[in-house]
Amino acid sequence: MRTLALIACTFVGAATASGLPAQEASGGQPNVVNYVRYEHQGRVSYGVLQGERIREIDGDLLGTHSDTDRWVALDSVKLLQVTPARKIIAVGLNYQSHLGQRESATYPGLFAKYPTSLVGSGADIVRPPDSKNLHYEGEMVLVIGKTCHQVTRVLAMACVFGITAGNDVSERDWQANDLQWFRAKASDTFGPVGPTIATGLDPDDVQVETRVNGEVRQHARTSNLIFDVPTIVSYVSRYVTLEPGDLIFTGTPGSTKAMNPGDVVEVEVEGVGVLRNKVVQGG
Ligand code: MG
Repeated sequence: MRTLALIACTFVGAATASGLPAQEASGGQPNVVNYVRYEHQGRVSYGVLQGERIREIDGDLLGTHSDTDRWVALDSVKLLQVTPARKIIAVGLNYQSHLGQRESATYPGLFAKYPTSLVGSGADIVRPPDSKNLHYEGEMVLVIGKTCHQVTRVLAMACVFGITAGNDVSERDWQANDLQWFRAKASDTFGPVGPTIATGLDPDDVQVETRVNGEVRQHARTSNLIFDVPTIVSYVSRYVTLEPGDLIFTGTPGSTKAMNPGDVVEVEVEGVGVLRNKVVQGG
Protein backbone atom coordinates (compact mmCIF):
# COMPACT_ATOMS: atom_id res chain seq x y z
CA MET A 1 0.00 0.00 0.00
CA ARG A 2 1.19 3.46 -0.87
CA THR A 3 2.01 5.79 1.97
CA LEU A 4 2.52 9.50 1.92
CA ALA A 5 6.09 10.39 1.02
CA LEU A 6 7.59 12.91 3.37
CA ILE A 7 9.42 15.06 0.92
CA ALA A 8 9.95 18.75 0.70
CA CYS A 9 8.35 20.20 -2.41
CA THR A 10 9.66 23.36 -3.94
CA PHE A 11 7.18 23.50 -6.80
CA VAL A 12 3.65 22.35 -7.32
CA GLY A 13 1.68 23.11 -10.45
CA ALA A 14 -1.08 25.69 -10.24
CA ALA A 15 -4.72 24.71 -10.60
CA THR A 16 -6.34 24.96 -14.02
CA ALA A 17 -9.69 26.55 -14.86
CA SER A 18 -11.32 23.21 -14.05
CA GLY A 19 -9.97 23.53 -10.51
CA LEU A 20 -7.72 20.54 -10.91
CA PRO A 21 -3.93 20.58 -10.72
CA ALA A 22 -2.09 21.07 -13.99
CA GLN A 23 0.59 18.44 -13.52
CA GLU A 24 1.37 17.85 -17.16
CA ALA A 25 0.90 21.42 -18.31
CA SER A 26 3.29 22.69 -15.67
CA GLY A 27 5.80 19.89 -15.96
CA GLY A 28 5.41 19.99 -12.21
CA GLN A 29 6.36 17.97 -9.19
CA PRO A 30 6.99 14.42 -10.45
CA ASN A 31 6.38 12.83 -7.06
CA VAL A 32 2.86 14.19 -6.69
CA VAL A 33 0.02 11.92 -7.80
CA ASN A 34 -3.57 13.16 -7.90
CA TYR A 35 -6.35 10.61 -7.44
CA VAL A 36 -9.99 11.33 -8.10
CA ARG A 37 -13.14 9.46 -7.18
CA TYR A 38 -15.88 9.85 -9.73
CA GLU A 39 -19.05 8.55 -11.30
CA HIS A 40 -19.01 7.67 -14.97
CA GLN A 41 -21.87 5.98 -16.80
CA GLY A 42 -23.44 4.98 -13.51
CA ARG A 43 -20.30 3.44 -12.06
CA VAL A 44 -18.16 4.78 -9.20
CA SER A 45 -14.39 4.47 -9.64
CA TYR A 46 -11.09 5.83 -8.54
CA GLY A 47 -8.59 7.00 -11.09
CA VAL A 48 -5.32 8.83 -11.55
CA LEU A 49 -5.74 12.32 -12.95
CA GLN A 50 -3.39 13.12 -15.79
CA GLY A 51 -4.09 16.45 -17.42
CA GLU A 52 -7.65 16.39 -18.73
CA ARG A 53 -7.90 12.60 -18.59
CA ILE A 54 -8.35 10.01 -15.87
CA ARG A 55 -6.71 6.59 -15.90
CA GLU A 56 -9.14 4.25 -14.22
CA ILE A 57 -8.24 2.05 -11.27
CA ASP A 58 -9.95 -1.28 -10.64
CA GLY A 59 -10.91 -1.92 -7.03
CA ASP A 60 -10.47 0.19 -3.94
CA LEU A 61 -7.66 2.75 -4.03
CA LEU A 62 -7.20 2.38 -0.27
CA GLY A 63 -7.43 -1.42 -0.38
CA THR A 64 -6.90 -4.01 -3.09
CA HIS A 65 -6.65 -2.40 -6.49
CA SER A 66 -4.90 -2.54 -9.84
CA ASP A 67 -4.10 -0.13 -12.63
CA THR A 68 -5.91 -0.37 -15.95
CA ASP A 69 -5.41 0.94 -19.46
CA ARG A 70 -8.88 2.45 -19.51
CA TRP A 71 -9.10 6.23 -19.78
CA VAL A 72 -12.02 8.60 -19.44
CA ALA A 73 -12.19 12.32 -20.14
CA LEU A 74 -12.30 14.52 -17.06
CA ASP A 75 -15.21 16.51 -18.47
CA SER A 76 -17.28 13.33 -18.88
CA VAL A 77 -17.34 12.41 -15.18
CA LYS A 78 -18.98 13.68 -12.02
CA LEU A 79 -16.41 14.14 -9.25
CA LEU A 80 -17.45 12.65 -5.91
CA GLN A 81 -16.33 13.11 -2.32
CA VAL A 82 -12.81 11.70 -2.23
CA THR A 83 -13.64 8.71 -0.03
CA PRO A 84 -16.78 7.06 1.35
CA ALA A 85 -15.46 7.81 4.84
CA ARG A 86 -16.90 6.04 7.86
CA LYS A 87 -15.48 8.62 10.23
CA ILE A 88 -14.74 12.32 9.81
CA ILE A 89 -12.80 13.88 12.65
CA ALA A 90 -11.99 17.57 12.87
CA VAL A 91 -9.54 19.64 14.87
CA GLY A 92 -10.73 23.02 16.11
CA LEU A 93 -8.65 26.10 16.93
CA ASN A 94 -5.43 24.87 15.32
CA TYR A 95 -4.02 28.14 13.93
CA GLN A 96 -3.05 31.08 16.14
CA SER A 97 -4.44 33.36 13.42
CA HIS A 98 -7.87 31.79 14.06
CA LEU A 99 -7.48 31.86 17.86
CA GLY A 100 -6.68 35.57 17.94
CA GLN A 101 -6.04 36.60 21.52
CA ARG A 102 -7.20 33.27 22.92
CA GLU A 103 -4.57 30.91 24.31
CA SER A 104 -3.90 27.61 22.60
CA ALA A 105 -5.09 24.44 24.30
CA THR A 106 -2.53 21.94 25.52
CA TYR A 107 -4.02 19.17 23.37
CA PRO A 108 -6.00 19.10 20.09
CA GLY A 109 -9.71 19.89 20.42
CA LEU A 110 -11.64 17.32 18.41
CA PHE A 111 -15.17 17.03 17.09
CA ALA A 112 -16.94 14.86 14.54
CA LYS A 113 -18.71 15.38 11.28
CA TYR A 114 -20.93 12.73 9.69
CA PRO A 115 -20.49 10.73 6.48
CA THR A 116 -23.76 12.27 5.25
CA SER A 117 -22.19 15.74 5.51
CA LEU A 118 -19.67 14.87 2.78
CA VAL A 119 -20.05 16.10 -0.79
CA GLY A 120 -17.60 16.47 -3.66
CA SER A 121 -16.30 19.43 -5.58
CA GLY A 122 -19.06 20.92 -7.72
CA ALA A 123 -21.87 19.88 -5.37
CA ASP A 124 -24.04 22.46 -3.62
CA ILE A 125 -23.74 23.47 0.02
CA VAL A 126 -27.37 23.58 1.16
CA ARG A 127 -28.16 26.21 3.79
CA PRO A 128 -30.87 24.83 6.10
CA PRO A 129 -34.06 26.93 6.20
CA ASP A 130 -33.48 28.14 9.78
CA SER A 131 -29.76 28.88 9.33
CA LYS A 132 -28.80 32.56 9.49
CA ASN A 133 -25.04 32.46 10.03
CA LEU A 134 -23.37 29.80 7.88
CA HIS A 135 -19.58 30.16 7.61
CA TYR A 136 -16.88 28.61 5.44
CA GLU A 137 -13.72 27.12 6.98
CA GLY A 138 -11.06 26.25 4.42
CA GLU A 139 -8.81 23.41 5.63
CA MET A 140 -6.30 20.78 4.64
CA VAL A 141 -7.79 17.34 5.19
CA LEU A 142 -5.88 14.11 5.83
CA VAL A 143 -6.94 10.92 4.08
CA ILE A 144 -6.20 7.87 6.20
CA GLY A 145 -4.73 4.95 4.25
CA LYS A 146 -4.53 2.13 6.73
CA THR A 147 -5.91 0.97 10.03
CA CYS A 148 -4.10 2.40 13.01
CA HIS A 149 -4.73 2.40 16.72
CA GLN A 150 -2.59 4.08 19.37
CA VAL A 151 0.09 4.89 16.84
CA THR A 152 3.09 6.89 18.02
CA ARG A 153 3.84 10.31 16.63
CA VAL A 154 6.93 8.88 14.91
CA LEU A 155 4.90 6.22 13.08
CA ALA A 156 1.78 8.30 12.52
CA MET A 157 2.58 9.34 8.95
CA ALA A 158 2.48 5.73 7.80
CA CYS A 159 -1.30 5.90 8.42
CA VAL A 160 -1.78 8.86 6.11
CA PHE A 161 -2.35 8.10 2.43
CA GLY A 162 -2.57 11.67 1.20
CA ILE A 163 -4.25 15.03 1.57
CA THR A 164 -7.24 16.82 0.14
CA ALA A 165 -9.03 20.15 0.57
CA GLY A 166 -12.07 20.54 2.79
CA ASN A 167 -14.64 23.12 3.79
CA ASP A 168 -15.63 22.63 7.43
CA VAL A 169 -18.97 24.40 6.94
CA SER A 170 -20.10 25.74 10.31
CA GLU A 171 -23.34 27.34 11.52
CA ARG A 172 -21.93 29.83 14.03
CA ASP A 173 -25.18 30.61 15.88
CA TRP A 174 -25.86 26.93 16.42
CA GLN A 175 -22.22 26.33 17.34
CA ALA A 176 -22.47 29.03 20.03
CA ASN A 177 -25.84 28.04 21.47
CA ASP A 178 -26.39 24.31 21.05
CA LEU A 179 -25.27 21.80 23.68
CA GLN A 180 -23.29 19.88 21.04
CA TRP A 181 -22.04 20.79 17.57
CA PHE A 182 -24.23 18.05 16.07
CA ARG A 183 -26.09 20.22 13.56
CA ALA A 184 -23.67 23.18 13.51
CA LYS A 185 -20.86 21.10 12.02
CA ALA A 186 -22.41 17.92 10.66
CA SER A 187 -25.61 18.76 8.81
CA ASP A 188 -25.97 17.40 5.29
CA THR A 189 -23.56 19.03 2.79
CA PHE A 190 -21.49 20.67 5.58
CA GLY A 191 -18.41 18.67 4.54
CA PRO A 192 -17.26 19.35 0.97
CA VAL A 193 -13.97 17.52 0.22
CA GLY A 194 -11.88 17.30 -2.95
CA PRO A 195 -11.29 17.65 -5.81
CA THR A 196 -8.38 15.15 -5.58
CA ILE A 197 -6.38 13.15 -3.09
CA ALA A 198 -2.77 14.21 -3.55
CA THR A 199 0.16 12.03 -2.51
CA GLY A 200 3.82 12.98 -2.45
CA LEU A 201 3.34 16.31 -0.68
CA ASP A 202 4.56 17.41 2.73
CA PRO A 203 1.30 17.93 4.65
CA ASP A 204 3.11 20.02 7.23
CA ASP A 205 3.95 22.68 4.64
CA VAL A 206 1.33 23.32 1.99
CA GLN A 207 -0.62 26.48 1.24
CA VAL A 208 -4.33 26.71 2.06
CA GLU A 209 -6.44 29.48 0.55
CA THR A 210 -10.17 30.19 0.68
CA ARG A 211 -11.96 32.44 -1.81
CA VAL A 212 -15.57 33.59 -1.90
CA ASN A 213 -16.74 34.75 -5.33
CA GLY A 214 -13.08 35.08 -6.26
CA GLU A 215 -12.08 37.23 -3.26
CA VAL A 216 -9.36 35.79 -1.04
CA ARG A 217 -10.67 35.36 2.53
CA GLN A 218 -8.18 32.96 4.14
CA HIS A 219 -4.55 32.33 3.31
CA ALA A 220 -2.02 30.32 5.32
CA ARG A 221 0.48 27.52 5.25
CA THR A 222 0.05 24.33 7.24
CA SER A 223 3.49 24.96 8.73
CA ASN A 224 1.53 27.31 11.01
CA LEU A 225 -0.61 24.52 12.47
CA ILE A 226 -0.41 24.56 16.28
CA PHE A 227 -0.67 20.76 16.40
CA ASP A 228 1.14 19.30 13.42
CA VAL A 229 -0.01 16.34 11.37
CA PRO A 230 1.88 13.55 13.22
CA THR A 231 0.63 14.94 16.53
CA ILE A 232 -2.98 15.05 15.31
CA VAL A 233 -2.95 11.51 13.92
CA SER A 234 -1.23 10.07 16.99
CA TYR A 235 -3.61 11.87 19.33
CA VAL A 236 -6.78 10.85 17.49
CA SER A 237 -5.62 7.22 17.32
CA ARG A 238 -5.39 7.06 21.09
CA TYR A 239 -9.16 7.15 21.26
CA VAL A 240 -10.56 5.87 17.98
CA THR A 241 -9.23 3.32 15.53
CA LEU A 242 -8.52 5.08 12.26
CA GLU A 243 -9.49 3.13 9.16
CA PRO A 244 -8.79 3.49 5.43
CA GLY A 245 -10.86 6.30 3.97
CA ASP A 246 -11.39 8.13 7.25
CA LEU A 247 -10.82 11.88 7.01
CA ILE A 248 -9.29 14.35 9.46
CA PHE A 249 -9.95 18.09 9.02
CA THR A 250 -6.89 19.85 10.44
CA GLY A 251 -8.32 23.28 11.33
CA THR A 252 -8.93 26.62 9.66
CA PRO A 253 -6.71 29.72 9.63
CA GLY A 254 -7.63 33.36 10.07
CA SER A 255 -11.19 34.60 10.32
CA THR A 256 -14.39 33.52 8.62
CA LYS A 257 -17.60 35.23 7.49
CA ALA A 258 -21.11 34.18 6.61
CA MET A 259 -21.85 32.69 3.20
CA ASN A 260 -25.04 33.56 1.37
CA PRO A 261 -27.06 31.68 -1.24
CA GLY A 262 -25.45 32.17 -4.62
CA ASP A 263 -21.93 32.48 -3.22
CA VAL A 264 -19.27 30.29 -4.78
CA VAL A 265 -16.71 29.16 -2.21
CA GLU A 266 -13.33 27.81 -3.24
CA VAL A 267 -10.79 26.09 -1.00
CA GLU A 268 -7.45 25.54 -2.71
CA VAL A 269 -4.80 23.37 -1.13
CA GLU A 270 -1.46 23.50 -2.90
CA GLY A 271 -1.05 20.47 -5.15
CA VAL A 272 -4.59 19.21 -4.52
CA GLY A 273 -6.57 21.60 -6.71
CA VAL A 274 -9.60 23.77 -6.05
CA LEU A 275 -12.59 22.53 -4.11
CA ARG A 276 -15.45 24.60 -5.52
CA ASN A 277 -19.00 24.63 -4.13
CA LYS A 278 -21.98 26.93 -4.48
CA VAL A 279 -24.23 27.82 -1.57
CA VAL A 280 -27.95 27.32 -2.16
CA GLN A 281 -30.94 27.93 0.08
CA GLY A 282 -32.59 24.78 1.35
CA GLY A 283 -36.35 24.51 1.45
MG1 MG B 1 -12.78 23.71 11.26
